[in-house]
Amino acid sequence: MTPTPVWRRALPYLLLLAAAILLPFTGSTYWGVIATRAAIYWVLVAGLNLVVGFAGQLAIGYVALLALGAYTTSVLCARTGIGMVPALAAGGVVGALFGVLVGLPALRLRTFYFAMATLGFATIVTQVALAWTDVTGGGVGVPGPSLPAPFDTPWGFYAACVMLAALATWMTANIAASRFGRALVALRDADVAAEASGIAKAPLFVTVFLFSGAAAGIAGGLFADLQTYITPDAFTFDLSVLFFIAILVGGRGSILGPLLGTLLLTALPEVAAPLVAWSTFLYAALLLLIVLLMPGGIAELLDWRNRRPLTQDRVVLPRPALLADLLPERHRAPALAVRDVRLAFGGVRAIDGLSLDLHAGEVHGLIGPNGSGKTTTLNVIGGFARPQSGSVVLGATRLPQGAPAARARHGIARTFQTPRMVGEATVLDNVMIGGGVTARAGFMEAALRLPRQLREEAALVRRARLALGAVGLDALAAVRCDRLQHSELRFLEIARALLAQPDFLLLDEPAAGLAAPEIHELGALIRALAARGVGVLLVEHHADLIFAICDRVTVLDLGRVLAAGKPAEIRAHREVVSAYLGA
Ligand code: ADP
Ligand code: MG
Repeated sequence: MTPTPVWRRALPYLLLLAAAILLPFTGSTYWGVIATRAAIYWVLVAGLNLVVGFAGQLAIGYVALLALGAYTTSVLCARTGIGMVPALAAGGVVGALFGVLVGLPALRLRTFYFAMATLGFATIVTQVALAWTDVTGGGVGVPGPSLPAPFDTPWGFYAACVMLAALATWMTANIAASRFGRALVALRDADVAAEASGIAKAPLFVTVFLFSGAAAGIAGGLFADLQTYITPDAFTFDLSVLFFIAILVGGRGSILGPLLGTLLLTALPEVAAPLVAWSTFLYAALLLLIVLLMPGGIAELLDWRNRRPLTQDRVVLPRPALLADLLPERHRAPALAVRDVRLAFGGVRAIDGLSLDLHAGEVHGLIGPNGSGKTTTLNVIGGFARPQSGSVVLGATRLPQGAPAARARHGIARTFQTPRMVGEATVLDNVMIGGGVTARAGFMEAALRLPRQLREEAALVRRARLALGAVGLDALAAVRCDRLQHSELRFLEIARALLAQPDFLLLDEPAAGLAAPEIHELGALIRALAARGVGVLLVEHHADLIFAICDRVTVLDLGRVLAAGKPAEIRAHREVVSAYLGA
């Protein structure tokens, strides 16, 4: 499958824009007002979409930020006499600040608790607006602001709102297609893989909450202009629900879907005027239908390409020769050492005094029966588990514990015993998630497609294709990841890990579920990685693979080292043979 060309992806947006430009020529001021409202809602929903549709956070109280933006803009205009444009900017700033304030609980609270927190905030804002009469006018309200000419007529204002909506669409589509969009989705669907790829949740969430809060605040200012007069009861719970449902109806992880969802939900009560009183009920029914019948929303309906059948009996044929381009010649990394680590889960001593040395360019096998502490060892090295004592040392640096996202920067990458992937993203996007650590361009550079961002993205795509070629999956680059076979996911995880250009690669049972020829290919690939200077820690049950490709082997039993040495020594070790190899 070839990737969709840019013009084809842009086509639906261009059609919508053309419709927006043609609307004034119909002369229908009635629909002009509705379209203006839809454009304003979309400015908010576009930002919220990053939080809900991409990051997967149930932020349902965004009407609060709309209200804050509306009041900031209106009050500044009415009481200080500054123009609406600077007042609107101030509304954006207030929205951004409170966006972070409302969003921060998402770092600690899970789904519904976070949803309740945002809802609680919405209630507080309305109550404050009612009570703080000196500033907000309380129940009487304040007059809305008005844009300067030529945007002070209904159609002029419509044009301004459509332009801002187009800008919001463009910026969020750029973010969605950048490493930031991929990181949000990775945190949503495969958080441990995201962390192992060096994606730190807190700074990314703060940035996204700033951005979506600013969009909501600006939408609020425009909303106040449209209303001409605002009171607290303009900011109903229904409105918050509309924003949220527009995204669910549209489909998570999409821009076009929620855009169509917003248009649909804004227009729906108008086309079916007698139903207005029922709108809450309608939204609820619509939501139920979507959840039950098409959980992917409008976006999934539009995604017909991914319903085309894939060829069956595909084989993974790695081309290790491509690694030469992917992993540049480097100075040899210092050794990675595990020093006397102890880690118990309650009464279970998962690791009981383990020491281990990994060297650049070597394959180190880690074997042992189930439950002997192999995965836990990988978790300790990867920063996912905090040992009670002992340390992980890279050269002379003691690596901080419990900070998995920082490990990628130290050149440590890993795969998982159960592959962790973003099922809804393409194979190529999944691989590119691994390359975020090598990028420098910031969030706004991504939003505005500035040159450095474009350069880095192009380089990342090139490297991701190389990695896919190296592991033998390049033919599947444009396929949704959830359509892959298990064995393909194993190789895909390796490709993702390679994109971080690691010095050390930790593989947790990469041959599990692979057919014999695939295991052979995997072995050759791992040897080729070592030949490029990567130090590999290989946890495996296939003794043949271990003895065929490892330079050293450590045997674990009940969290302790039972034996360590060259493969030949291990093979001859009496206790290991009787306890584990069983021959
Ligand atoms: P292996 O990968 O060698 O099969 P693990 O490292 O997964 O073994 O597990 C080692 C021991 O630690 C097992 O007894 C397992 O049940 C226990 N263990 C691992 N992770 C946890 C955890 N998060 N909580 C409690 N016990 C755990
Ligand atoms: Mg394990």
